Amino acid sequence: MKKVVKFGGSSLANAEQFKKVGEIIRSEESRRYVVPSAPGKRFNGDTKVTDMLYACYEAAEAGEEFSGKLQAIKERFEEIIKGLSLDLSLEREFEQIAADFSAHAGKEYAASRGEFLNGKVMAAYLGYEFVDAAEVIRFDKNGVLEAEKTNRLLEKRLAKCEKAVIPGFYGAKVDGTIKTFSRGGSDITGALVARAVGADVYENWTDVSGFLMADPRIVKDPKPISTVSYKELRELSYMGASVLHEDAIYPARIANIPINIRNTNEPENPGTMITSEPAKLEEGQIIAGIAGSKDFTVITMYKALLSSERGFIRKMSGVLEDFDIPIEHIPSGVDTLSVVISNKQLGGKLEDILDEFERQLKPDHMEVSDDIALIATVGAGMSLRTGVSAKLFTALAEKKVNIRMIDQGSSEMNIIVGVENKDFEKAIRAIYGAF
Ligand code: ASP
Repeated sequence: MKKVVKFGGSSLANAEQFKKVGEIIRSEESRRYVVPSAPGKRFNGDTKVTDMLYACYEAAEAGEEFSGKLQAIKERFEEIIKGLSLDLSLEREFEQIAADFSAHAGKEYAASRGEFLNGKVMAAYLGYEFVDAAEVIRFDKNGVLEAEKTNRLLEKRLAKCEKAVIPGFYGAKVDGTIKTFSRGGSDITGALVARAVGADVYENWTDVSGFLMADPRIVKDPKPISTVSYKELRELSYMGASVLHEDAIYPARIANIPINIRNTNEPENPGTMITSEPAKLEEGQIIAGIAGSKDFTVITMYKALLSSERGFIRKMSGVLEDFDIPIEHIPSGVDTLSVVISNKQLGGKLEDILDEFERQLKPDHMEVSDDIALIATVGAGMSLRTGVSAKLFTALAEKKVNIRMIDQGSSEMNIIVGVENKDFEKAIRAIYGAF
């Protein structure tokens, strides 16, 4: 049995949390490869080490005095080292970092040092070998992960270690320049390591006991999801359920390694298992979960005989491509076509886009709603059942939620409804209640 275990920032925020992590790792011989994040928040209002590093580097780059900021970061690590009674000094590492900051080594290099240093601490604490991610996680010259190259490097390097700590979040280009993933990217490192060593399980330890069927800020005490498939999870996280970095799914999925989301503060809880199989639903359960996000714009175009026109969608998507805007959904009717765009992506270009639609598509009429929330009800079991959508729409009607748009994902494991932003929470509660 071989496990890769990744611990998030809140699991490693201080010595006390480190001790819980130590206990978890030592309780199973199979937990051989450990991927740490940088120390996160110790309490509400605290600052993550990664954010401290960004701020410190910003000062360095602006030519300001940054030694005080760097000292505060050093103290976070010293507090952990002292609390764990380790015989470890990071003096040399901090000297190097100070010199590199002065030489403007780059923002991504700066951010990566949180994981780098925490990896050193973790390796000393566990007595595991430290493997620098810069040696084994490879990005191309444009900063895109080279997945196959990385897999080969990791596989070769880790074949030589029985047990190792590989810091999360970063890697390097072939010339040695440090490159980070996007925020929360240690999840990706964990998945890459799991694939390379052929792990039986990739355990992702965080501060929640896995996924819940709905956002607990909206629904009171939602049920936990015990198993969910990679595909269902992809739909849920695309729509805003965030526990795991989206890009962490792919490496685990191609190697068919289950991902187990676990809680460092509640290690006896089995958490959520993410596997290639669709969720094993409990008696009477039809859906895996509900997720959604606010702030989308829906542009609906009406045109007589649209259904027999050629090239309409191509022209429409061409306009959006020219404006560099991704399309979220394209629900269509006989003589109508809507396009859903996220407001964040739209960024003030709406008027110009409408002008261009007018010019190139010549619709009879256009309507725009710019305060739409999308809610996805996800579950692989849905396509095999009858009456699922009836139940969903009835629940919304009973709560007097006006449905502005419906889109059943082509995967048939997903029904997306668009409602007004103001009805978002009410709609989620209604759907949760119905299922
Ligand atoms: N420390 C990085 C962040 O705060 C990466 C991670 O925690 O996964 O985003």
